[in-house]
Amino acid sequence: MKYSIPKEVLDVVTQLEDGGFEAYLVGGCTRDLILNKTPKDWDVTTNATPEEIQAVFPDSFYENSYGTVGVKTNSDDPTLAVIEITPYRTESTYSNARHPDSVTFSTSLDDDLKRRDFTMNAIAYNVAKNKIVDPYNGQDAIRLKKITTVGSPSKRFSEDALRMLRAVRLSSELGFTIDSATSLAIAENAPLLEKISKERIRDEFNRIISSQNPMQALFFIQRFELLSYIIPELEEGIGCMQNQAHSFDVFEHLMRSLQHAADKDYSFEVRLAALLHDIGKPASKRMDYKKNEPTFHGHEVIGAKMTKRILERLKYPKDISATVISLVRWHMFFSDPDKITLSAVRRMIRNVGEEHIQELLDLRTCDRIGTGRPKEQPFRFRKYKAMVDEALRDPISVAMLKINGREIIEILGTGPGPRVGWILHALLEEVLDDPLKNTEEYLHKKATELAKLSDAALRLKGEQGKEKMEEEDDKQIQALQKKHHVG
Ligand code: ATP
Ligand code: MG
Repeated sequence: MKYSIPKEVLDVVTQLEDGGFEAYLVGGCTRDLILNKTPKDWDVTTNATPEEIQAVFPDSFYENSYGTVGVKTNSDDPTLAVIEITPYRTESTYSNARHPDSVTFSTSLDDDLKRRDFTMNAIAYNVAKNKIVDPYNGQDAIRLKKITTVGSPSKRFSEDALRMLRAVRLSSELGFTIDSATSLAIAENAPLLEKISKERIRDEFNRIISSQNPMQALFFIQRFELLSYIIPELEEGIGCMQNQAHSFDVFEHLMRSLQHAADKDYSFEVRLAALLHDIGKPASKRMDYKKNEPTFHGHEVIGAKMTKRILERLKYPKDISATVISLVRWHMFFSDPDKITLSAVRRMIRNVGEEHIQELLDLRTCDRIGTGRPKEQPFRFRKYKAMVDEALRDPISVAMLKINGREIIEILGTGPGPRVGWILHALLEEVLDDPLKNTEEYLHKKATELAKLSDAALRLKGEQGKEKMEEEDDKQIQALQKKHHVG
């Protein structure tokens, strides 16, 4: 069967062959061609050395220790912008479960295929001859939708422990199963994942939760004891039962919430927040003996703290972390459209930020479905959204007040300082309750009154409304711990 290959890729293999070298498409792109999927990147392997490749492509760049040379194309398609050419390689010994002690170039395609992780990834395709080289029966594996290592799975996982997570990631992306011997070897070698850098773990983990089947993959990860090296905190939710309204323990609830985010193709941040929103429940679980059921007061506060630690440990970029932490922190917002007030809706918007309201609503849907409850009735959801739209017309941040910092400094008759912020936030509190108070006249009058208060009194007023400050959350956590004699 002839595969359709983009012109940019054809150019690269043709030029290599015209230069007198062998050239094969290999790895994920060949696998995806056989699967009739569009490859995410195009990898070419060749018997040319890095220097020889550079001689064929004078504009190419070579800046790594694996011999990979990048050829820039003029394509607008990001998957085609750079074609990577890697010389045939053999990998000698591995002594740290991370990478080979040295990389040796080879003149044999067979050597190169032998070092690849899974049989489905060890297939080479020669475009000009329309010929497939498949010494490990990777095509059968693809037909059977099976992930099997090239050679002994235990040996391959002890060479590079990340391969275990790649197996799970590829299985969730492709909907393949992991062959039993390969699975068994994952169970045996799981502790080796400890040696892998958090960044590499995070990158595979991201692809798992961005796939269509994250729940199944995470159940596998938990059962095969890889979870301790990714987010061990999730394991506290196993067997952590909730009240009558919940059919599942906290762990399964989080898995189902994440799966719903995947089913709906919600944003990456919503997926992460769905997975973590109740992470603070086990730590805040208390028994209410009157009702004879557990309570989880403050779990969103503890959960936000835990989320921060988890995302820092996995070295997520600051902007992603900030959004996810805020979603977890505010996921308990009240949303019954029959009972909620507009000022409560304004506060919700102030807390999470206008740009994240939709994500907070998406998270609520995941939470609900993950509990096993039916979808919110559409008209109720629409009613709530209408309230959000209405609230958005009112001032919800100090920037929208009809008075600014400069004017307050004037009223105070001092230079800038914390009193200015406290007054602004105290004014915002009033306006959140009653937007009609957002007039120059009223705010000036009120600011003049506030300016007479002592630092302590003013601070109290200013901070009661200011975006829930970390300090305040800490106090709440401490109070919780004291009350229950833990900590
Ligand atoms: P995708 O491009 O969809 O992420 P992929 O299989 O192409 O999937 P890449 O990371 O692009 O993944 O790797 C390209 C190829 O390099 C793989 O198909 C495999 O042959 C080989 N490979 C990648 N990582 C490893 C590894 N850790 N050990 C052995 N071979 C690997
Ligand atoms: Mg690839």
